Amino acid sequence: MNENHFLNRRNKLLDCMEEGVAIIASAPHLIRSNDSEYPYRQSSDFYYLTGFEEHNSILILSKSFTEIKTILYVEAYNAEYALWNGAKLGIEKARERFHVDEVRDSAEYAKEIKELLREHINLYIDLFDESEILIQAKAAAKALRETRGVKRHIHSIRDVTYLIRSLRLIKAAEEIETIKTAIAITAEAHHDAMRQCCAGMKEFQLQAAMSYVFLHRGAMNEAYGAIVAGGNNANTLHYIDNRDTLRDGDLVLIDAACEWELYASDITRTFPVNGTFSDVQKEVYEKVLDVQLRVIEAIRPGVKRDWLQTYSEELLCDALIELGILSGERSALIEAKEHKKYAPHGIGHWMGLDVHDPCPYVDESGESLAFEAGMVMTIEPGLYFRADDENIPERFRGIGIRIEDNILVTEEGYENLSAMIAKSMEEIEEMCKG
Ligand code: MN
Ligand code: MN
Repeated sequence: MNENHFLNRRNKLLDCMEEGVAIIASAPHLIRSNDSEYPYRQSSDFYYLTGFEEHNSILILSKSFTEIKTILYVEAYNAEYALWNGAKLGIEKARERFHVDEVRDSAEYAKEIKELLREHINLYIDLFDESEILIQAKAAAKALRETRGVKRHIHSIRDVTYLIRSLRLIKAAEEIETIKTAIAITAEAHHDAMRQCCAGMKEFQLQAAMSYVFLHRGAMNEAYGAIVAGGNNANTLHYIDNRDTLRDGDLVLIDAACEWELYASDITRTFPVNGTFSDVQKEVYEKVLDVQLRVIEAIRPGVKRDWLQTYSEELLCDALIELGILSGERSALIEAKEHKKYAPHGIGHWMGLDVHDPCPYVDESGESLAFEAGMVMTIEPGLYFRADDENIPERFRGIGIRIEDNILVTEEGYENLSAMIAKSMEEIEEMCKG
């Protein structure tokens, strides 16, 4: 992605800020065990504003009544670090690359933050981040308040994440292209899993088939931990064990996807282990697919997300009545949350730099947001019938089906960004034959 995109985003954030200083820090390294670390993943908010993937970097946006200034703190070249881990970008190269007013050495941040806050009123930070960087900033603000001759001081600490995440809600063209790249690779991985699947395989072997595609195409990270759930395992919503054997006659639910330039995709497909849907599997699959298609069809600018959620629950409840799993009046069943026993999760979520993008779902008055062009969400209805549920006809027990696509809201309505992934029963059976 071009540096200008990141510059634009910083300028938009500055437009949203009143007078003050925003401090946005990179993610810390996390220890996995003893002295080995988890693979590093940049903070989505920091990445959104910089496109920089190094840790120990800090972005400062400073807005006074007369001047705007952007400073990026990065780690200076360190021969010892370079020997073990490879060279960091360093200050000189960072100056060439980033369209910021100044690049400084992050080792100097603690000394310099006090000067940066001098004569400012608002401090914009992540209120829930207790990192050293923000502790130092607050200590500097306190010291300034106690310093003679300082006319103005910080008297309001505000949440910068809400501003950033409100911007993140509407995806620009270059973000949509990045998401499409993630989805294209994920599509190939799902198709390979369908082609390779056969009875007797282990769930992790299907996962391996997908991981191969991700890595082979240069997508170094999954967007989230893969779910490969054969048969009744699909009824554990966050099943990530993936160690069971895939059995002839069962379905397998795969919820797995990769990340591209830190942008997520999030795709679920459910297909028969032996490549052919049984009659009862067809019966349920048809219902879930019909709900999914109808919910997607309803997406267009102006539609409220709350309405879409309610609509999807009505459709799922109807499906459960038609299958003979629930009986009675739909409204009474929904009132009693009967449908939630078999369709417990929401219809979808925002997606972007985070698979569950933490963008607002309601406006500041608490009203559900209406869709606007540029929003990206998942639509993922599911029906789950546990093997041990004696309240449902026996033939349904052990079936769990979810179908998940990634949908972009457009001016005209919507675009299903993952429409190329086999989804109808005919397409799936055809793919499984390959
Ligand atoms: Mn998913
Ligand atoms: Mn999802």
